[in-house]
Amino acid sequence: MKVDVLTLFPDMFSAVMSESMMWKARDRGLLDFRARDIRDFAQDKHRQVDDSPYGGGGGMILKPDVLVRAIESVKGDADTPVILLSPQGRKLTHAVAAELSRLPRLILVCGRYEGVDERVRDLAISDEISIGDYVLTGGELAAMVLIDAVVRLIPGVLGAEGAQHRDSHADGLLEGPHYTRPPEFRGMGVPDVLTSGHHADVERWRRQGALKRTWQRRPDLLASAELSDEDRAYLAGLEAGKAD
Ligand code: SAM
Repeated sequence: MKVDVLTLFPDMFSAVMSESMMWKARDRGLLDFRARDIRDFAQDKHRQVDDSPYGGGGGMILKPDVLVRAIESVKGDADTPVILLSPQGRKLTHAVAAELSRLPRLILVCGRYEGVDERVRDLAISDEISIGDYVLTGGELAAMVLIDAVVRLIPGVLGAEGAQHRDSHADGLLEGPHYTRPPEFRGMGVPDVLTSGHHADVERWRRQGALKRTWQRRPDLLASAELSDEDRAYLAGLEAGKAD
């Protein structure tokens, strides 16, 4: 996947994009990432990228001429989605991340100040995504969150060690508990089933752990999760206080 980010602060991406999973994805040739400075597309001698709003009211607005020039120059003739990070966009969920992970290329636009001139939206933006119902100072952190959520779903990025199909939200449930060595810690042990060597029993325990955790913490998710008859029977047992 090729990802271009348009930002006034390209250096903010350096550490995040050069460590851990992001670095592996780039090193394996699965992610081609570039952060581009919007200021490079300003043509006046002060390289001005923002201006005060018509009608007053304070704050600054990213100028349409500079931002549209930046987007068009990066995009070329390609039919590539141009996503504005915005608190007004559709919410980033696992389903949205999975949808984006299947695309060959993304262009992400990071707003700043009071946001972008409305004509940028009309002329050059094809999608708007929010990472939650709160307001950040700029789109850079939101873009990094989006890139992380998307890139980890690209086949080959996490390798065999990744169990991302079991991660919370991947199949509509929260993930259940995990344990690792030591077998006893501060008087607390590990469920016997995990050391039993019975693969089917471990899988059943994990499934029930995911169902229970979702039932406890996010029961709203159960309405749209894909559930088997066995899952429903287990949940009915939890409701009746007959299962644990
Ligand atoms: N005045 C704008 C509004 O009320 O909708 C908020 C502007 S915000 C201070 C500056 C920039 O941060 C936005 O243009 C956007 O790019 C980014 N941003 C802020 N909150 C965000 C969120 N929840 N998700 C994604 N991007 C966000």
